Order: sequence, then structure tokens, then C-alpha cells
Amino acid sequence: MTEFQTVIGLEFHAELKTKTKIFCSCPTTFAGEPNTHVCPVCLGLPGVLPVLNKRAVELAMKAGLALNCQISPFSKFDRKNYFYPDLPKAYQVTQYPLPICKSGYITVPDADGNEKNIRINRIHLEEDAGKLVHSGESITTSNYSLPDYNRAAVPLIEIVSEPDMASAEEAKAFGDKLKLILEYAGVSDVKMEQGSLRCDVNISLMPKGSDKLGTKVEIKNLNSFRAMHRAIQFEEDRQRRMIERGEKIVQETRTWDEGSGQTLSMRSKENDHDYRYFPEPDLVPTVITPEWIEAVRSELPELPDKREKRLKEECGLSYYDCAQIVATPALAFFFDEVAKIFDDKKTIANWLIGDVSRLINVAEKEYEQIPIAADDLAYLLEQAKSGAINNNSAKAVLEEMFASGKKPAEIISERGFAQISDSSALEEAVKAVIEANAKAAEDFRAGKQQAMGFLMGQVMKATKGQANPNLVKELLAKMLK
Ligand SMILES: [Zn+2]
Repeated sequence: MTEFQTVIGLEFHAELKTKTKIFCSCPTTFAGEPNTHVCPVCLGLPGVLPVLNKRAVELAMKAGLALNCQISPFSKFDRKNYFYPDLPKAYQVTQYPLPICKSGYITVPDADGNEKNIRINRIHLEEDAGKLVHSGESITTSNYSLPDYNRAAVPLIEIVSEPDMASAEEAKAFGDKLKLILEYAGVSDVKMEQGSLRCDVNISLMPKGSDKLGTKVEIKNLNSFRAMHRAIQFEEDRQRRMIERGEKIVQETRTWDEGSGQTLSMRSKENDHDYRYFPEPDLVPTVITPEWIEAVRSELPELPDKREKRLKEECGLSYYDCAQIVATPALAFFFDEVAKIFDDKKTIANWLIGDVSRLINVAEKEYEQIPIAADDLAYLLEQAKSGAINNNSAKAVLEEMFASGKKPAEIISERGFAQISDSSALEEAVKAVIEANAKAAEDFRAGKQQAMGFLMGQVMKATKGQANPNLVKELLAKMLK
């Protein structure tokens, strides 16, 4: 039996986080009544001229730099011609032979856990189409559909990978990493459920060891990485069985049907020449200087791979802990803020992964809305570290900071959490406990170390948990001699 190798390439569309559309000043906001964010330019009315949004160019450059691409000093726009009711001009302004970014890569773990570079062929800048709102549940069960052009001409980047992925797992790892990098770079909202990040899969099978690629099939309508993973596995199976039966794979576009868990034929795959690309005559070429590239590069924050490595080195944290922080940009940025004030990074990390994350989950909030200030958390951790309050009190203070928004110092004083670290104040309590527990004191003197734990517990109880445990231990040892 022939063994097959899967070959996967991915295409991502990411909506750029600009305030206005790519060639006009209409807003890009997601919500809004249908056809209220439109003007003669994005509706393609006769006689209008587009003006390129500079910020869209910069965000595309940023994406390219974050994905290790070369930025083209000279790029231009082309018209891709096709008719569909969501495309008012009957052509899409995009980039064909001269895209803004070329030749990048992302590093992902392969099946053996080694690092593998997945190459990026190109990133091009283009405009989004509008949306069709169907009268029924889906396009096939609707009597009519209405076009909404609010999304028409929202700036997009299309990121095209090389066919370097060999499994659904690698494709998902690529998608997860790409999404995270774009999020760190601040290029896109990357919300798959809202359509600001969309993914198409190109997949083919070939006999293992062969260098001749099989016929590829494109899968669309994947609105989560889970769907992508399932669709790839389904398609691997379908194509393998067809080849084994001696059937020919048809080059086509298929759609993922989440309900039935299968891909369905949508249309035969069009070729590039079907679109009759030609240069967009209304826009001048985009010229990017090295100075401009450096200015954009300086806006980029530290990216995930580098950040994970630094956290591991600086905090002595496990791979798992670092990955957990880095996977959520808002948490990673918050970590940096706290670390500017409080220098025990391992403690910060433990609190962020532990209690802070737990409280955010309980409050059903997003990490972007952490309801406490970085300097307040730093203050609280400092109080716990110096022994001014004990660890349990610190946890209770954090909880109240989340609930009431009060400052930690205020909560500590209101609830009397300040630890008793004054030895003269504690001596009385220690003395009383020794007197009341003569048997345990005798045991300790006779060499039973466990008696110390019991006596400490009694002192903590007598002081309602506010005694500094280290000091109690010290006093007990001294007074039991
Ligand atoms: Zn407009």
C-alpha cells in the first residue's frame, strides 16, 4: 500500500486595525446599520478617485517585519476582475506581481517537537468585499440576499504561506503563532468569530518521497482553527481514498460544513488568468524608504519567541509557565509593567498565572480588562515579600482589589491585615502559649521537632494569623531554650 504525504499551504486574510477604510475616510467599525459606513469611493460610483490610507501601508509593513519578511521598496496595486454582488466595483483592488512584503517565515514545533520554519511567500495589501445578508439560514435556503457594503474596502492583508506544512497539527500551530504575532504587533483584531481573521487551506496528497505535488484542493469557510484542523483531517482521508480507488482529484474550491463535519464541492477552482489582473490606473506605486521601514520597526513590541526566551532566562520559569504568559499579550504587557516596579519576576509570574488569572476567570473578564493597576499589584507583592502581611492576607487583599477597586494599602489597614512584626508585641503571646502548653514545650526540649509546629500554630491562632511566622519561630526557639 502506498504511503502518502500531506502538503498544506495556508492563506490568511487579516483586517487591519485602521480607523478608516483603505481608499476613503469611511469608518471601519464592526457594528453599524447596513450601508451606513459607505461613500461614493467605497461604493465605486463613477468619477471618484481613491487615496491610499498611509496607516494601512504601515500596518502591512509591521505585519511583514513581525513575520520576518522583506519589505518591498516599490509595490503597486492591481485590479482583480470578477463579478459578485458583494463587490460594488466588480473588481477588487489588490496587489499581484509586486506585493508589499515577500519571503518571511514563522517558527513552529514539528511532530517531533523540533523547531521548523514555515516559509511565507508574500503578504499583499488589498480591500475587503462587502457582505451578503441572506434572508434564510444559509445561502442555499434563502429566497433572496441583501448586500451590506459597510465592510467594502476595509483594508486587508493577505498572508500566503509556502506549502510547508505536513499535518493538521502543523497547520494549527502555524495559525496559532501567526494570530499571536499579529496580535502582539497590533496589526489586526484577529477575531476569527467576527471575521477579522479568516483562513483558507490548500491541501494535496502525494506518495511519500515523491517531489511531484498532487492536485490541490482549496477549503474555505473555516471560522476557527478547530474547524481548520477537522477539515484538513477529513480532506486527507477523502483524497487518500480517492487516489487508492484510482479516481482523479479535481482542482476545486470546497466549503467546510461544520454541521456534517465534511467538505463539500463549491466550484471548480479558477486560475489567476481568469481574473484578468491589470495595473490599477488610479493609484500611484507605493515607494517605501529604509528610514520609513525603521520608523515602523521601532513601533513593534517584543515578539512572542523572543519574549518567551527572555522570561525563561530572567525568571527561571518553566517552559509551560512562560508560554502561558506569552500566549496572552495583555497579560505579558501587564507582567512587564509590574516588573518595572517589583523585581522578583518569578513571584509576579506565579501570581499572574495563579490568583490573578483565576479572579479574571471568575469575573468573566478578558485579560485586556484586568481591573487592577500594575503599581497596586507591585505594592501588594512587596508587602507580602517583606513580611508586612502574610501570604493568605495578600490573596484576600487581591480579591478585594478586584471586587471593590480599592487600593491595597487601604484594604490592609481596614481589615487589620498588617502582620505583627514587632517582637515585643509578640513576646507576650509566645510566652502565654508556652505556659498553656507545657507538655508540648517539654516535648520540644526533649528533641521532638514536631512540637515546634504545634506551638507555632497556637501562636498564629492567638494572634488571628497576623503574627510574622519567621519571627514567631525565632522567639519560640529562644524562649524554649
Ligand atoms: Zn467610503
